[in-house]
Amino acid sequence: MNSPFWNPKNENLPRADLERLQVAKLRRLLVDASERSAFHRRKLDEAAVTADSITSIDDLRRIPFTTRDEWMEAQDANPMFGDLLARPREDAIRYHLTSGTSGRNPLRVLDSRKDWQWISECWAYGFWAAGVRPTDTVFFAFSYGSFIGFWGAHYCCERIGSLVIPSGNMSTDMRVRQIAEMDVTTVCATPTYALRLAQAASEQGVDLAGSAVDKVIVSGEPAGSIPETKALIERHWGAKCFDTAGMTELGTICMFECSHQPGGMHVIDDHYIEEVINPDTGDPVGYGERGERVVTSFGRAMIPVLRYKTRDLVVKVPHDTCSCGRTFDIYEGGIQGRVDDMLLIRGTNVYPRAIESIVRSFDAVDEFQILVETIDNVDELTVRVEMKPGSSVTFGDICGELQEDLKEHHEMLRMNVAEAERGSLPRFELKAKRVVDNRRTKA
Ligand SMILES: [Zn+2]
Repeated sequence: MNSPFWNPKNENLPRADLERLQVAKLRRLLVDASERSAFHRRKLDEAAVTADSITSIDDLRRIPFTTRDEWMEAQDANPMFGDLLARPREDAIRYHLTSGTSGRNPLRVLDSRKDWQWISECWAYGFWAAGVRPTDTVFFAFSYGSFIGFWGAHYCCERIGSLVIPSGNMSTDMRVRQIAEMDVTTVCATPTYALRLAQAASEQGVDLAGSAVDKVIVSGEPAGSIPETKALIERHWGAKCFDTAGMTELGTICMFECSHQPGGMHVIDDHYIEEVINPDTGDPVGYGERGERVVTSFGRAMIPVLRYKTRDLVVKVPHDTCSCGRTFDIYEGGIQGRVDDMLLIRGTNVYPRAIESIVRSFDAVDEFQILVETIDNVDELTVRVEMKPGSSVTFGDICGELQEDLKEHHEMLRMNVAEAERGSLPRFELKAKRVVDNRRTKA
């Protein structure tokens, strides 16, 4: 109970032993996937890969990638779940969907009782590392809907023995009041919504920084590892902010931030193999190089996942970059964006994450949006900002500096800044969608 590690043995396993464990688990996964999932059997047969093909971690590269498009095609060809399922539908106890960003069809997933135990186990690595203990009162600012989100985190708190307060049906104002009234110590939300709650608290005169909350655990958006956004959350809440990241396709989190806050997240290396590749060539990239993360997951029985191309951009660094002692490697800066996120504006690469880090350094800004449109055949990018109500700082006070900062960080590319009317920009409880690219929809 006094250990800083949820799984002291595996979280401190020497790297060579971790690799041996991964190889053994991978071989078992290949047997299971090829015997039980028609989707994987087809692909593995085509590539002539069996468990016996794998004798070292490098042999992983013989296994073909899995893409979202393939998964979707399998689902469309064979509704509702495609031929990925490795267990009969009767084994499932819950149905979830991907959040369907960019208007795409959602992927559908099923999980069994055993899967849910594993899902909550992975979350427990992260919650325990953030300091969640049986004495904590944990508030979930989460809608408990078909999006998998914090469901697994809820069950992990039950495993740890913390008191859970669900708030699915509550308004933002009700949530703020309950967090204060119930002496909540830990709040779980997306980074955007953690800031929204803080804003609502200040409007209601609730002093969150003086409340019992000492941990804010975020997930669902890359912003949890943007230093400026994290600093803002920590300042408003008077609490430490811990990032986690997972995806519906994998059922749970794959990485978490420890209490040493090394500026990134530890990969749960005993439950996954996380590779980083060049998204164009598929070749592996080394420590310190940015690439696409590719995930092989050992824990989900209903849906085996082999080398899934996530489209997430990451930079992996060795475990000893952090002083906590864990031997799990680290994604520096967390999820740094999506492969498809990049905007090309008049020849310059622009990442929404870079804009967010600049906007969040202006405390008087409440919400923002990135609008891209074609004006007189020229691509124009405008950062629209909504100022905090009651702030003594006006848009006029910051607009010059904001525009200069944006320009300086983008090879002197001119961006426009504009004030949006109070309450006019969309607010988000789940994944924030702040880029409005009107160039593509016109085509
Ligand atoms: Zn650490």
